[in-house]
Amino acid sequence: MPLPGTAPAKSGYPTVMLESPCSLNVGSVRVDAVVEVARVPLAFADFLPASTPDAIAAEAHWLQPRFADASLKYGLLSFHTYVLRSDTCTILVDTCIGNDKDRGGHAGFHRLTTGWLRDLQQLGVAPESVDYVMCTHMHGDHVGWNTRLSNGRWVPTFPNARYVFARSEFEHRARLRETKPGGDYGVYADSILPVVESGQVDLVDSDHELEGLLRLEAAPGHTPGNVVIHLQPGREHAVLSGDVIHHPLQVKYPEWSAAFCEDPAASAACRRRFVEAHADTETLILPAHFPAPTAGYIRSHGNRWRYSFAD
Ligand SMILES: [Zn+2]
Repeated sequence: MPLPGTAPAKSGYPTVMLESPCSLNVGSVRVDAVVEVARVPLAFADFLPASTPDAIAAEAHWLQPRFADASLKYGLLSFHTYVLRSDTCTILVDTCIGNDKDRGGHAGFHRLTTGWLRDLQQLGVAPESVDYVMCTHMHGDHVGWNTRLSNGRWVPTFPNARYVFARSEFEHRARLRETKPGGDYGVYADSILPVVESGQVDLVDSDHELEGLLRLEAAPGHTPGNVVIHLQPGREHAVLSGDVIHHPLQVKYPEWSAAFCEDPAASAACRRRFVEAHADTETLILPAHFPAPTAGYIRSHGNRWRYSFAD
């Protein structure tokens, strides 16, 4: 999501590392998550404007305490990066918000000082060892750790990585920078441009395949160039769904687009296609913002669906 439309505040969220929301294997690939911020409260009325208190109250039995607060007025979102490790390469997907970024004072985004990079290293991943960095889209909470501040300059956090971006999303962001200068709070300038200038970016089609492990699929709506990323190292199949779904309530109600969706109607249609495509299959869903336990499956439930968390 981009910056929320909340009143600016000068404080960030605590730098507490809670449990990893996800640590599992998909075939031969090890999948972990590095959490930047574990549970960010966002008012349902603001971030899912089509939701209703009654519909949310009917789900209280599973929403609390992990996915909603005690009042049921706030949904809880995690911000994390997926770390995929195969025998041959290390891939990061979606690089959260990042430290030190000036985001106009917006609470939860502005000048964070989290231990994300330390936690990545504690997982056994040195920045120099990362082979690929991928972003499902280019909102500020998915590209932040592409770069870090060093001696007053933004430099690539991963000096040996190729940054693999969907061309359509990249071009959309570059266009916005021309037509709405400053409208992205500096995200393009501090988190995208430095890796372009370092020569580390590969712009790819929205059905690109990588290392025989990953395949992009266009999923426009949340942003025009948004993609989901299929992980298929063999017979096993997982999908890194990015911001096609922000909160598990949207599995039951795919028509509830988030306020951050750039085209809410297209996002709702995309979400419904995604839910229908993966319902009642063994495809593991790896969402970008579900708090722990995060990974799960989509199951039919009455005439709708529900999210079934993987143990
Ligand atoms: Zn997001």
